[in-house]
Amino acid sequence: MLVVMKRDTTPQNVERVCQVIREKGFTPHVMPGAVRLAIGVTGNQGFVEIENLEGIDGVLEVIHVTSPHKLVSRDVHPEDTVVTVAGVAFGGKEVVVMAGPCAVESREQVMLIAREVKRLGARMLRGGAFKPRTSPYAFQGLKKEGLEILAEARAETGLPIVTEVKDTDSLELVASYADLLQIGARNMQNFTLLEEVGKLRKPVLLKRGMSATIKELLLAAEYIMSQGNYQVILCERGIRTFEDSTRNTLDLNAVPVLKGLSHLPVVVDPSHGIGLWSKVTPMARAAVAAGADGLIIEVHHDPQRALSDGPQSLTPKSFAALMTDVRRIAGAVDREVAGGE
Ligand code: PEP
Ligand code: MN
Repeated sequence: MLVVMKRDTTPQNVERVCQVIREKGFTPHVMPGAVRLAIGVTGNQGFVEIENLEGIDGVLEVIHVTSPHKLVSRDVHPEDTVVTVAGVAFGGKEVVVMAGPCAVESREQVMLIAREVKRLGARMLRGGAFKPRTSPYAFQGLKKEGLEILAEARAETGLPIVTEVKDTDSLELVASYADLLQIGARNMQNFTLLEEVGKLRKPVLLKRGMSATIKELLLAAEYIMSQGNYQVILCERGIRTFEDSTRNTLDLNAVPVLKGLSHLPVVVDPSHGIGLWSKVTPMARAAVAAGADGLIIEVHHDPQRALSDGPQSLTPKSFAALMTDVRRIAGAVDREVAGGE
């Protein structure tokens, strides 16, 4: 259910509506919009009926939302949501580029890459400190030391950091360093983790599971939002298909489909999406043309020696070429890429 408030409504009217919703055992979610404020109602198993809501001062109308994902849905919030991460806005005119290594490997590695991607126009630094690896013998990340290195790179370059949180045990630690908390593809349906990040008030980058449908991705975002954390950015990162020429199949259909169904910003990860460094730039161009609000790109100064995802990592030189192309495409679709010298 969605309670749409009149344009000139008062905070007292809003609180009165929330109180009535709480009294019925449901949860109100106040969602301010550019033109009017709405209050989403969750906690119900089916159709909710709250008598006399329409009679409360300031209420314009009560709409029954039938989609299973309510808070993520455009029905509830018709305008695009802008999620701001340490001053960087996702979902506005800017196409935000995040870049950095797959994994934090050393201080020297991160500092070198951070300076390069900042110079070339990245607005955020990526890097995993807790790495979810297919093999237990593969490099698992530098953990706390990795987070400290990222914080040092942030202090020097001014780039906010996005890093993965792998489990609830390390959530508090990772959240104390990250500006944007990444939930990886393998954890998209870790419902306990989703609920725990939902209790924080920190932005979340939610990556699509490798075999997840668009509806499942939206329901995973709903888990986070249902706990009161509305700062969610969705990420298409490729799905598993029968195709084996590429690591994954980057589902660019998801960009316009997600933008149609949801008000949340959508970013694309062409690095994991295709898995081949020489094909990352064309897919980045296509993502921006399709309407992505941002990109997340793996960059390594020495991909052949990278401890993870070297084959899909761009060198700073090839990242520079990607940025040139992406700026041109962004201009063609009335968007812009800020940043860079
Ligand atoms: C990553 O960003 O390095 C990563 C592990 O991504 P995904 O969860 O999409 O595989
Ligand atoms: Mn990676």
